[in-house]
Amino acid sequence: MNQPKEILNSYHLEPKKSLGQNFLSDENVLWRIVDAADLLPDEQVLEIGPGLGALTKLLAQTAVSVTAVELDDRLLPILAAELAAYDNITIIHGDILAQNPDTLFTTSYKVVANVPYYITGAILRHLLSARNKPTRMVLTVQKEVADRITAVPPQMSLLAVSSQFYGSVEYITTLKAGAFWPRPDVDSAVISIDLSQNPTIDPAFEKQFFRIAKAGFSQKRKQLQKNLRQLGLSQTEINTLLTQASIDGSRRAETLTLDEWKTLTEEVARLQGSKVAGR
Ligand code: SAM
Repeated sequence: MNQPKEILNSYHLEPKKSLGQNFLSDENVLWRIVDAADLLPDEQVLEIGPGLGALTKLLAQTAVSVTAVELDDRLLPILAAELAAYDNITIIHGDILAQNPDTLFTTSYKVVANVPYYITGAILRHLLSARNKPTRMVLTVQKEVADRITAVPPQMSLLAVSSQFYGSVEYITTLKAGAFWPRPDVDSAVISIDLSQNPTIDPAFEKQFFRIAKAGFSQKRKQLQKNLRQLGLSQTEINTLLTQASIDGSRRAETLTLDEWKTLTEEVARLQGSKVAGR
């Protein structure tokens, strides 16, 4: 496999740090990522930031088709040359955040990407809130972000709760900075988010769920019973709510399980329903 540095040199190009360009070239690492996607031969893949096409090639060998969105126009001739042998790859020149997955795919698809780190959170929000969500996402992200996404109580974060709302998350493997060229400043990790099962929480509660989780995590050191005041509820209402949900109000948001957030959401809906009914 050609090394990223040599490929870029031959086009007289330098990697752009501002676009998060840290390329992978170790075939073992790339296959590990593809394997984690568990692709069936009839499955479609969305790749974010194909870069020089190293991962794209392996995906094209495994999936029925690959749609790859690349923002950097300097890389388009490289991708055309590197991927010329494959007729099941479509390169879209543009910003992934401006692409609508609901129109890109009419059937199910998976996402595989070594993501540009500067927009990891935005990519997650963009794809997870789409109507046609991927059935699985395999993402290379900063290790610290991977740890936060896959956290368990008592170390939950808003990012963990938001990701795990949509599917089961798995920490696949750590990638040392030396696996990339140029080396990023931090270690990375491959994670997967499996959305193929029905969500554990009724999607009708989605908005409410996130409002409550955001309020719960709003002030890191504060107890849940204090942070929930942000919902515009009285202390008495909050106490009732927490008692009904069997949650000790002196706990901090990081200690709650996903099921407890779900119960809390249901109790808020019940309380608000009864307030409306009692008017
Ligand atoms: N997939 C390649 C690999 O693994 O070697 C490159 C990964 S590199 C970490 C991230 C890639 O995303 C770069 O090619 C970069 O130009 C591209 N990129 C950055 N911002 C983007 C955006 N908003 N939309 C699409 N691609 C983007």
